[in-house]
Amino acid sequence: MIAFGPVPSRRLGRSLGVNNIPPKICTYSCVYCQLGRTIKMQVERQSFYGPEQVAREVREKVAQARAAGETIDYLTFVPDGEPTLDLDLGSEIALLRPLGVKIAVITNGSLVWHSDVRDALAQADWVSLKVDAVRDEVWRKVDRPHGSLKLDAIMDGLLEFAGNYGGELVTETMLVAGVNDEDALLSQVADFVSQLRPAVVYLSVPTRPPAEEWVRPPDEGTIVRAHQIFSRRAARVEYLIGYEGNEFAFTGHVEEDLLSITAVHPMREEAVSEFLARAGADWSVIHELIAQGQLVETEYDGRKFYVRKLR
Ligand code: SF4
Repeated sequence: MIAFGPVPSRRLGRSLGVNNIPPKICTYSCVYCQLGRTIKMQVERQSFYGPEQVAREVREKVAQARAAGETIDYLTFVPDGEPTLDLDLGSEIALLRPLGVKIAVITNGSLVWHSDVRDALAQADWVSLKVDAVRDEVWRKVDRPHGSLKLDAIMDGLLEFAGNYGGELVTETMLVAGVNDEDALLSQVADFVSQLRPAVVYLSVPTRPPAEEWVRPPDEGTIVRAHQIFSRRAARVEYLIGYEGNEFAFTGHVEEDLLSITAVHPMREEAVSEFLARAGADWSVIHELIAQGQLVETEYDGRKFYVRKLR
């Protein structure tokens, strides 16, 4: 499913997701990835679904959501992998423009040293760039990049993109306990991030089941310290540690909506309950999807989550 939602986004209001990458192809295999370990590590850009199919499926989803009275604040490229691997990203953005909804891309920034990736991203209204580390050994430990990637080139590309971008640029730094949360490391990341002049620096922690079981969020003291370190260098620093709430969209197809949302966004038990209640369905839908091997129930931090099974 290429289009899903709209789902509540901590940063973008009601966001209709665009999943332009098959699961799970990425340039990184981050230890905290909520989609699990990367199935296919790749750095070569390629065409996946093609711009026409992506645009058609998004148009259909927008029409369904609008018919159901759902608000859509953003169309957000937030796939099951790295969105800039898609050679057609720029064409897709252009085809979606007539819908009259702002367009966002959430990228790990690892391919931004390609000028054509910078050109594609430049067409979006809002871009989020990941900066988890600026020291090579820490970057390799937290993001586990494809072997051919070079951190220096990526950082140069990020600076070049940020220097020319006319939309709203934000950064996101994921803090993982014992990996990138020391003060000295945070200061280095904050120094670099401040050069990108982001509208907002987001600090996040793993709040959903991570790829590696040992991954833990830093303690509250460290999270507060991180905020202080970044705030000395950037105007606006916000946590991304809250849960989005339970206002998941219902566009009329219970199973399809649940599977498309949970492919990118694991749902907490109480969110599923509310979703089912609003859809006039019950837990038998979930049990059936689990029995079919399409949905998985998992626990993290004492809470139950439901997530799409990756093939
Ligand atoms: S968190 Fe994003 S960049 Fe990291 S492995 Fe998952 S999809 Fe790729």
